[in-house]
Amino acid sequence: MRLANRMARLGTETAFEVLARARALEAQGRQIVHLEIGEPDFDTPANVIEIACDALHGSQTHYTPSAGMPALREAIATDATARRGVAFDPAEVVVTPGGKPIIFYAMLALVNAGDEVIYPNPGFPIYESMIDFVGGRALPVPLEEARDFSIDVERLCGMITDKTRLIILNSPHNPTGSTLARADLEAIAAAVLDHPDLLVLSDEIYSRMIYDGEHVSIASLPGMQERTIILDGFSKIYAMTGWRLGYGIMPAALAQQFATLMTNSNSCTATFTQLAGVEALTGPQEASAAMVAEFRRRRDVVVAGLNAIDGVTCRVPHGAFYVFPNISATGLTSAEVADRLLREGGVATLAGTAFGAYGEGYLRLSYANSLDQLNLAIERMSAMMSTLLARVR
Ligand code: PLP
Repeated sequence: MRLANRMARLGTETAFEVLARARALEAQGRQIVHLEIGEPDFDTPANVIEIACDALHGSQTHYTPSAGMPALREAIATDATARRGVAFDPAEVVVTPGGKPIIFYAMLALVNAGDEVIYPNPGFPIYESMIDFVGGRALPVPLEEARDFSIDVERLCGMITDKTRLIILNSPHNPTGSTLARADLEAIAAAVLDHPDLLVLSDEIYSRMIYDGEHVSIASLPGMQERTIILDGFSKIYAMTGWRLGYGIMPAALAQQFATLMTNSNSCTATFTQLAGVEALTGPQEASAAMVAEFRRRRDVVVAGLNAIDGVTCRVPHGAFYVFPNISATGLTSAEVADRLLREGGVATLAGTAFGAYGEGYLRLSYANSLDQLNLAIERMSAMMSTLLARVR
């Protein structure tokens, strides 16, 4: 079959491939600890499920406006205003099936062939994939362990040219769990404001999963609301990955363009899902708070366990539910280590390079799994590291 040329530029997320390989091993009778997939192992809060069921039984089964139901856009604007400390209007909100379409729409709406986009590497693989897909020039800014995986702001600002249309930020960050400090965001904002055609795509999907410090949105800095597209959603914080519900918040004129992209692709986000979203934001928050508290507990166990393994070092992530341990002492590529860990060790992880070239030497582990499973994973990793290190020592 003859495909359009652009399909050769489309990347993917290896988490889904590793999950399929792990499932195949399980089908052969092996027991695998799953640390590959980035989704909470919690159920969606019961009150949210109830509202969705009521909506379905109450004939809420028709199209909604492409940008989202007014009640949900209002709830999102109110929530974002309270959490980020600047006033957002419902007209600035576009509701989408998950947060991911916001990445796609940002590229489609803003990036012409040859335009430059700066993005974090290692980083969520969809950034690079979508930049390449629309014919943009993907310029990675490395996140280095020596800087606690924060962005080298001077380096980033030095990369900005008149062709740069977008800077992608992600805090807390997937895969490293690092966060961006206010001072760094201020320096980035100053550079952005120097370039009239430059916008920021601020992926804040993990912004309520912070264990140290506070979340600062670059949109809340002076002059930046007009220059920022916030990506956020319900997948992680309300354990709603399979519902497909997310949103973007951006200048109203751009929101209209995103809504037109919605009309052309999805028509609208599922109606009962949107109503569940209103409940998630305006109803009781205890379930999601308890989930975040549990993630924090697990983070501490996993980081301590990893650092106790000979040949592994792991920084303390400040948010999200990932750790990014350094396994370079093995002398193997991270893909080789991840492969042997899955096939021989029975632990499914992702190679750091699944998040870009600068992820070499690392693995990404999601700690969205029970403490029992996490402890088992540490035990198995420790045994595997002894085997791998014996080879190089
Ligand atoms: N941004 C980041 C950094 C993510 O890790 C993810 C999901 O893994 C998303 C966006 C997309 O989330 P959603 O499931 O809402 O599309």
